[in-house]
Amino acid sequence: MGAGYVGLVTGACLADINLDVTCVDIDEDKINLLKKSVVPFYEPALEEIIKRTTEKSKLAFSTDIRKSLQHANVIIIAVGTPSLEDGNADVQNVFAAAQSIGAYINQDCLVVIKSTVPIGTTLLIKNEIQNIIQKRKQHFNVDIASNPEFLKEGNAVSDFTKPDRIIIGVETEHAKNTFLKIYKPFVLNQYPILFMDITSAEMTKYAANAMLATRISFMNEIANLCEAVKANVNMVRMGVGSDNRIGSKFLYSGIGYGGSCFPKDVKAIIKTAEKYGLPFELLKAVESINHQQKQLLFKKLMNHFKSIEGKVFAIWGLAFKAHTDDIREAPSLTLIQAITDAGGYTKVYDPVAMPNAETQLKHNPAVTFCQTANDTIKDANALLIVTEWPEFRILDLQIIKTLLKEHVIFDGRNLLNKDELNQFGFTYYGIVMKNQE
Ligand code: NAD
Repeated sequence: MGAGYVGLVTGACLADINLDVTCVDIDEDKINLLKKSVVPFYEPALEEIIKRTTEKSKLAFSTDIRKSLQHANVIIIAVGTPSLEDGNADVQNVFAAAQSIGAYINQDCLVVIKSTVPIGTTLLIKNEIQNIIQKRKQHFNVDIASNPEFLKEGNAVSDFTKPDRIIIGVETEHAKNTFLKIYKPFVLNQYPILFMDITSAEMTKYAANAMLATRISFMNEIANLCEAVKANVNMVRMGVGSDNRIGSKFLYSGIGYGGSCFPKDVKAIIKTAEKYGLPFELLKAVESINHQQKQLLFKKLMNHFKSIEGKVFAIWGLAFKAHTDDIREAPSLTLIQAITDAGGYTKVYDPVAMPNAETQLKHNPAVTFCQTANDTIKDANALLIVTEWPEFRILDLQIIKTLLKEHVIFDGRNLLNKDELNQFGFTYYGIVMKNQE
């Protein structure tokens, strides 16, 4: 249930290991596209699997929730759980899915919560389903499980098929054995499967995302200190990351984390902690550092120009990271809004996120959507690189120099070489390396 980034990847990959899967969604447009093997978002390698599995009739798509649920042995809920205004996770989609399950199933089944849900939700879902079945005066054994997802957008298929580990919270041996059947290829290939109780599985997902967000905010603070003491944060990162106890991943400083998961999951776990009387001070700091970090590129812009009223800025990259079209909570949105509020204009380009960006930004008259990266820089007062797309790494500086009105580059991802740019006559600002500016 839910054919988004998680549900669709899960459905397609399970169909690819020969299970019979129907991806069901309430979004008719999405399902109509999928029926034509068109993936409604950008995710490398996914379309191929969808084509392959639908041709073999292992994978189907439907908006008919009743029909899809009636005879299902296993129902995986992968619907969205966005943030509410107060920071809590909004679980209404999950409960709507549970109500459909209670209303429509016609046999025993295992219900798997793959959506990221606040601690305790999985057991509430079980009660909800059972109450509805009771009202129908039916008796089905409904097992419940928590199987949180750890895939990364942009690498989702590979993450799903070659997981670092699979986390499964169950209550019964029967549920555990069902998972061992579903994930048999993973068992055979010796990917670690950690069975635990449901609450611990729910908590594992939040703890993992909170830890990763903490590493990012920690490195951003280290980077800001490096800037003050004139140390090179890239060397510091490599030095720190070579320690086996620390590891080299997720140590890059930049303009803050975004996306559909870290911001909302950090907020949600803070809220859960509050509910139990525990102020999670560390994560509050992680959040506030991230908020400040998202303003950093704009601050550098203002330091350089003093006033940007009437000026035009080329923005390269809108997605919250490379290899995805997801712009949820992306630093680009914060930056564009700040430039607009200060009276500036933006010309924007992203290799894959333009449709999402147009939906989100079409009401902002100060934004111009461009077809190519070079279209954005024509007559712009500066270029700002916001997403680390590979195509922004190697540049034709001669063309950029000809097109840009003022030769200033703000590199929010530290992709470019300052010396080379200076030699070419550009003023260069990296995000966190004042000593190199
Ligand atoms: P998404 O917004 O891309 O997709 C959710 C889909 O659910 C939508 O297509 C929506 O139409 C559908 N939906 C909503 N209510 C429904 C219902 N009652 N019945 C059927 N379909 C319904 O969301 P996503 O990014 O795939 O995330 C799904 C969940 O997985 C979230 O809880 C998220 O936190 C978690 N998660 C996401 C990622 C990620 O990288 N995107 C990674 C790990 C975990």
